[in-house]
Amino acid sequence: MRYLIIGNSAAGIFAAETIRGLDPSGQITMISKENCLPYSRCLTSYFLGKEIPEERIYIRNKGYYSETGINFIGQNVERVNPESKSVLLESGEKVGYDKLLVATGASPFSPPLEGSDMEGVFQLRTLADAKAMAEFAPNVKTAVVMGAGLVGLKGAHGLHELGIKVVVVGSAPYLMRYSIDPESSGILIRLLEKNGYRILLNTKAEKILGEKNSEGRMSVSGVVLNSGEQISCQMILKAIGVRPNVQLVADTEVLVNKGIIVDREMQTSVKDIYAAGDVAEADSILQDEKSVSALWPTATEQGIIAGCNMTGVNRSYRGSLALNSAVICGVGLISAGVMNLPPGEGIVLRAVEPEKNFYRKFVIKDGRLVGMIMVGRIEGAGVLCGLIRKGAKVDINYLNYLLTNPVKYQGYLPMSKGGPQYGLLR
Ligand SMILES: Cc1cc2nc3c(=O)[nH]c(=O)nc-3n(C[C@H](O)[C@H](O)[C@H](O)COP(=O)(O)OP(=O)(O)OC[C@H]3O[C@@H](n4cnc5c(N)ncnc54)[C@H](O)[C@@H]3O)c2cc1C
Repeated sequence: MRYLIIGNSAAGIFAAETIRGLDPSGQITMISKENCLPYSRCLTSYFLGKEIPEERIYIRNKGYYSETGINFIGQNVERVNPESKSVLLESGEKVGYDKLLVATGASPFSPPLEGSDMEGVFQLRTLADAKAMAEFAPNVKTAVVMGAGLVGLKGAHGLHELGIKVVVVGSAPYLMRYSIDPESSGILIRLLEKNGYRILLNTKAEKILGEKNSEGRMSVSGVVLNSGEQISCQMILKAIGVRPNVQLVADTEVLVNKGIIVDREMQTSVKDIYAAGDVAEADSILQDEKSVSALWPTATEQGIIAGCNMTGVNRSYRGSLALNSAVICGVGLISAGVMNLPPGEGIVLRAVEPEKNFYRKFVIKDGRLVGMIMVGRIEGAGVLCGLIRKGAKVDINYLNYLLTNPVKYQGYLPMSKGGPQYGLLR
């Protein structure tokens, strides 16, 4: 059996290792346009901020491909040809497959903005991006980060660690719009501002300003905001959002919406072609529609499911759960599931102690926990995520108790034999 995997990141690596475990003699080829060992994108901002050395970014060691019997090709794949069961490399060479996994992830996306082609404008997706920013950083006093989501805040943190004054500009009314809520965002904003960041929300950049540098090239000198304010800066990080890398299946029978649409086996609309990770649009636990999750744990889980099914071992994907974690100025944050329900639907429990950087919110619908945010004391968050995943019935009185009390890991046990009811142990 010839297995071909495009992408050597979270989804691709976990798929390859699953396949190798289940089919020791299968021929596995992995192709990536990033011609390097697999690494964690989630750590690139810590590398930027010099908190970890480059070696710690890599998630597999030198010799990985030969030890696991994976044939690695460091090239861009231009397109997939389902009719001939092959892919076309940038070199013009074709590589055939019996089973194909598209694990090409996503790429940064931002609306056109005047001045974006100047020196000093960056994005943060790859290790190469982080290295380029790190190399440029010694010339920078002030950086403007466009985007107040997880990647924007992580990038801002990396730059702040280098002693750069950071201004975060976000178009949404609060930070991490899809992952938290205004109250928790308020706590994080106060923390960030106390630590020297400037946060501008409900604001957009309208134009990047530049001036000629000593080598005669145009380099960033500032940014004009829609408020009319002009901020003087030497670096811009664009972290507005990402889009799945679906181009290589364009004009094929593979169905694409935002991402490549997959079924519970992670198979696309074309037999023997699978997709996983940031490129895939898959079932989600709490929503009826399929969605692109764009999170590391989702990509690894989908990679494992795809790997099983590619070898003929049937496994069904349980669906993605929005799950975010971050440490902002030393304070932990975890959120999962649905943050806001339409008015009149469900119950929301909240505890806020802003002066202690503490916040908890539990969202309950039809007697089930469907969302939670924890800021400050985040221990035991995994137990609550488990309850959301299981769709377990919860005891509201006990959740109320947990708003201000520790969530214990030995946590939850089935309460009734008859149904999917779970309770939490005190
Ligand atoms: C700065 C940053 C911080 C993040 N922090 C977190 C976090 O804290 N928590 C979290 O859950 N998630 C985080 N994420 C998101 C997480 O990194 C992604 O969800 C995860 O990397 C997705 O894995 P993937 O395998 O689907 O795709 P990717 O990691 O995007 O990898 C795609 C692979 O495909 C290859 N590829 C793409 N196109 C082609 C082509 N045409 N030909 C050949 N190869 C190709 C690429 O080289 C790469 O190997 C972060 C992302 C970034 C950028």
